[in-house]
Amino acid sequence: MSRIVLASSNPGKLKEFGALLADSGLEVIPQGSLGIEDAEETGLTFIENALLKARHAAQASGLPALADDSGLCVDHLHGAPGLYSARYSGSHGDAAANNAKLLRELDGVPTKQRSAFFICVLVLLQHADDPSPLVAEARWHGRILTEGRGTGGFGYNPVFLPTGYNQSVAEMDDALKNQLSHRGQALVLLHERLSELRHA
Ligand code: IMP
Repeated sequence: MSRIVLASSNPGKLKEFGALLADSGLEVIPQGSLGIEDAEETGLTFIENALLKARHAAQASGLPALADDSGLCVDHLHGAPGLYSARYSGSHGDAAANNAKLLRELDGVPTKQRSAFFICVLVLLQHADDPSPLVAEARWHGRILTEGRGTGGFGYNPVFLPTGYNQSVAEMDDALKNQLSHRGQALVLLHERLSELRHA
């Protein structure tokens, strides 16, 4: 496999995937550059949505497709914003409003009860009817701060403090984030699955 389509049009994610896949030997084509619109995310779990996105991109492009579905799950909020992370405040992709809503929901909640994790599920389909997708999942644990810190990256980066670090994700440099993150770790796992298959 040398050319694959990337089923995302989130600029923050595309930038991270670009860096993370730079040495992969794959030619990674963002679906937007082929005129492919975002799939409807009608699943009830991250894995279902990742499959829907990958299948949609593979069908529309005729190429193998890589998709991710990701989000933030806060324990005190029973996993919210979860699947609805991108549109928690109502309008899709409004990170400032999403962060403000999250901080409001956790107002007065003590540090110990502010635990949360980012999750990323990756799906690689060889073609739209591929019955055996490669799947990789990773989680990045931490807690939600009481106010945002830093400006780097996208989404909930400013309010998430990873376990073992004193910097919010938005205060980290890109290389460190990519090494630690749910997306970076899921890609490491996907690489391992791919090389297992190559050597099977
Ligand atoms: P989707 O996977 O495109 O449906 O949306 C995932 C949403 O989760 C993003 O729009 C962000 O709000 C949030 N998210 C996922 N990964 C990250 C991350 O690495 N940093 C900050 N927010 C993230």
